[in-house]
Amino acid sequence: MTLGETDSPDSWLVELPPSARQSWSAVAVAGAVFIAFLAVIPFTGRTLIELNALFPSLDAIAFITDLITAVLLFAQFSISRSRSLFVLANGYLFTALILGFAAGLLGYTILKQEKRAPTVSETSARRAIGWSVSAVFVLVCGLTWLATGGVTLLPPIILPDGRGLSSLVIYPIWFTILISAAPTILLLTRRSVLDQWLMVVALAFILELVLSGLLASVRFGVGFYAGRAFSLVTSSLVLIILLSETTRLYARLSRSNRMLRRERDSKLLTLEAMAAAFAHEIKQPLTAITFNGSAALKFLNQTPPDLEEVELALKDTIVDGHRASQILDSIRELFGKSELKKERIDVNSLTREVLRALESDIASHRIETRVELASELPPIMGHKGQLQEVIINLVHNAIEAMDAVDGDRILKVGTDLSADEEIAVVVEDTGPGLSSEEANTIFEAFVTTKSHGMGLGLAICRMIVERHEGRLSVSSADPRGAIFRVTLPKVGLSH
Ligand code: ADP
Repeated sequence: MTLGETDSPDSWLVELPPSARQSWSAVAVAGAVFIAFLAVIPFTGRTLIELNALFPSLDAIAFITDLITAVLLFAQFSISRSRSLFVLANGYLFTALILGFAAGLLGYTILKQEKRAPTVSETSARRAIGWSVSAVFVLVCGLTWLATGGVTLLPPIILPDGRGLSSLVIYPIWFTILISAAPTILLLTRRSVLDQWLMVVALAFILELVLSGLLASVRFGVGFYAGRAFSLVTSSLVLIILLSETTRLYARLSRSNRMLRRERDSKLLTLEAMAAAFAHEIKQPLTAITFNGSAALKFLNQTPPDLEEVELALKDTIVDGHRASQILDSIRELFGKSELKKERIDVNSLTREVLRALESDIASHRIETRVELASELPPIMGHKGQLQEVIINLVHNAIEAMDAVDGDRILKVGTDLSADEEIAVVVEDTGPGLSSEEANTIFEAFVTTKSHGMGLGLAICRMIVERHEGRLSVSSADPRGAIFRVTLPKVGLSH
């Protein structure tokens, strides 16, 4: 994952499509709310005790949760700059201050329906928040005055006897139900995580209105109290979702950051690996050049000068110089972008050549060799020297691994042709084998368990094999030991 991906607006709540689990939990919560609603219906008319103190406490809870939701939504808006989020945040602020959610939800949905979600520029975001907060505040102050100082201008909601609700109340309630239901239906088509939960909130809100406005004919009845309980669901649900989703996004972000850091580290390692391999290879001819140069100087300074020795030393210097330059060439071929000089190779003879070269080494370690070469192997295209290097390295590692064991030391080297026409060279030993953790890391540069090891062998082997469009893998042998497998494509259409 790249930083760009985590930075994209796709990661933000408004755009994020819900996972199956998220969808199921939304359906489950909606189901629970609806069942609770059905369960309450038969008792709506039953009167309970008057709990006047309940209202200020419920309103305080709703005020705090709505206010926090508004703040979080404004924060999301300032990152994603989505205008629909902005309207929703204002809706929650309005709800917090006056305790009506429906208008904000409707505005959010309408803006979301626009094809290219309109966004707000960076500079205007803070100004927009400032203006809208002031506007909502003024609006709420005006409405509060109307409901208190201007009460005579409004029709009564609670009847003078203090028990029932005015029949006029059903008009604003139906109106609110309709403008809450409309977005729910519109949101059905294009859904994000947030949309899904807003739909659940809208459902709870509608049921709350039905309970406390339409079904509850009496104040302090079961329906009346149930309505209050539903309002708790509507005010806290989006807050809970915002908090949990933000935490989830944060976790994702930190995970991708960690991956980025690891990626950067391993790039540094490759550079270090290159420098180390370079130094390792080039040091020997350079030492020889210096040695021969000073020898030539010594013979020249003799009286009389030994010109024959001088000539020999200078000839050696030239040979070493050529070797150094050849090494540079092959290093460039190994690490550089230039195309490999590939030739047609018979993998069976390549394997035989390597085993012949290592014969005395194998024998001196008291190792029994078993060779099983596939009878008819198609040729491959590759760099002979580099592929030889890979097999030498694997056999070397096998020899060294078996040094540690007392039992049978058997080296199996084989070739085979897989069903999908890939050619494989397999090197198996009866050494201590590798733990699964080791198997994951040994191909990295500088991973070694040997005191004299550089930990570069397998890293370079894998690089060579991958440059041949092949794979190098390791598995465990039975009963013990490691199996290294080099898979190479046969001469394909591309060659
Ligand atoms: P080096 O040989 O310098 O340590 P390599 O990259 O070739 O570097 O190997 C890395 C490590 O992988 C070795 O130190 C060893 O622990 C492990 N390893 C490689 N080949 C085998 C094998 N055949 N059996 C067990 N361990 C192995």
